[in-house]
Amino acid sequence: MSFNLATILREPRRAHPDKPLCHLDHLTFSYRQVDEISGRVATALLGLGLRRGDKVAVQLPNVPQFLFAYFAVLKAGLVMVPLNPLLRAGEVAYHLADSDTKVFITFELFAQEAAKGAAEVEGVTTYVVNLPGSDRRPDGTRHFDELYAAEDTGEIAPTDADDTAVLLYTSGTTGRPKGAELTHFQLYMNCTVGGELFGFRDDDIGLAVLPLFHVFGLSSVLNVAVRYGGTVVLVPRFEVGPVVDAVERHRCTIFSGVPTMYFALLQADLTGRDLSSLRVGVSGGAAIPGEVIRSFEERFPGVVILEGYGLSETASTTTFNISAEQRKVLSIGKPIWGVETRIVDDADRPLPPGPEHVGEIVVRGHNVMKGYYKNPEATAEAFRGGWFHTGDLAYADSDGYLFIVDRKKDMIIRGGYNVYPREVEEVLYAHPAVVEAAVLGRPDAKLGEEVVAVLSLTPDAEVTPDDLVAYCRERLAAYKYPRQVRIVTELPKGPTGKLLKRELKKDLLETPAQQ
Ligand code: AMP
Repeated sequence: MSFNLATILREPRRAHPDKPLCHLDHLTFSYRQVDEISGRVATALLGLGLRRGDKVAVQLPNVPQFLFAYFAVLKAGLVMVPLNPLLRAGEVAYHLADSDTKVFITFELFAQEAAKGAAEVEGVTTYVVNLPGSDRRPDGTRHFDELYAAEDTGEIAPTDADDTAVLLYTSGTTGRPKGAELTHFQLYMNCTVGGELFGFRDDDIGLAVLPLFHVFGLSSVLNVAVRYGGTVVLVPRFEVGPVVDAVERHRCTIFSGVPTMYFALLQADLTGRDLSSLRVGVSGGAAIPGEVIRSFEERFPGVVILEGYGLSETASTTTFNISAEQRKVLSIGKPIWGVETRIVDDADRPLPPGPEHVGEIVVRGHNVMKGYYKNPEATAEAFRGGWFHTGDLAYADSDGYLFIVDRKKDMIIRGGYNVYPREVEEVLYAHPAVVEAAVLGRPDAKLGEEVVAVLSLTPDAEVTPDDLVAYCRERLAAYKYPRQVRIVTELPKGPTGKLLKRELKKDLLETPAQQ
């Protein structure tokens, strides 16, 4: 069946072409403008010789050019590879090479580092999005605006509904980041059902502070708003001041965030500020404490916080608490329409309801990815028995609500960003003084989790924990490098020699945070 996700622009563009699709501070782009500019960029991309299915990596913060690039890539029948702007050169090179990216679009503020990474990969043309009034770009790169010069043909490539639209990098349960292949149909279904869940309307104004390069921002904020003809207010970085300014200025009605954002808003002195336009707060990405929900709703009457759960591989939403009446605080809700979940034991046998029956959440339905790009082994492993294995441990109650207990995988979520221990460990292992490394998350009241490295060193090593923190800081994005390094004589291991992270974690919880 022929279907292209970019068609979600068509109906709102026809019905109200001059309505704002996005705001960034005082800057506004209407549906007509986003449609036309993305149409021009689509023509220009095809003019570069790109063919259906070719990859375009987009490493932008939440700025209007993200929307231009995204819809252009979709319209041209290409594949969007969203990347985090904070990636360092080596990480950029890995993602570009692994995804077979041909065109790379990055942002002026990160362009030096990004271009260094891109230069390591053959056959990549890099375009730079500039800040207003600037035209700086590293040597060997081009200006993104050049792509505006082509004509908008109004055409949308007749992709197949099952063609990959977005390749989203995630580590899944283990290993290095892999590209989850999300299809046009899957993303369309998720924003359609997702928006329905809390009744997104065309007069809704969603705050887009969650990064659009992540599935939560891309699918549950941007796609939902466009699908239902609403508006998004772009905020490039979470800080209480700019977020509150944006809500006040544009009278936002929907706030989607990770728990640390709710926590930060609760901590801030907002006397005299007006958040009364908000009606729904969507929370996901990590567990939100019941106390935060209660305090937030008390402080901002009129807002109801609804928690959902999902992964990059499930094109965002998998389960959701659909309304104040039907939600269960502390639960991630029930599977959304068209999606089934099960709780299974280690042998993939379904478990009955009850808190005593904790097992892994497995999923099947329209929201589940096609597979990991060029990685049949990891795909087969994740889809054992025809169900996608999430790596999250939970139980179901007798009403079908799911409660997450722990993560089977060892991914750390720091302030809403995923940190994959293996990536950090690889950097540490490259240090000549490091013998063994284990990276794990320590509970942190503000960030949810903080990244900690436990290391054993060579006998003659002269490095200090601070040196090692600085070493990682140079090589990893700011949200990934360990803030604490602990040095031990030997790391605990099981019979197969596998590091016993659970034991380390227990030790970490029992000893004070310093060191
Ligand atoms: P990502 O692939 O970046 O979307 O991360 C997905 C992971 O985030 C899941 O596998 C969970 O471990 C975690 N997660 C998402 N939503 C929730 C939630 N509501 N409660 C607890 N963990 C969550």
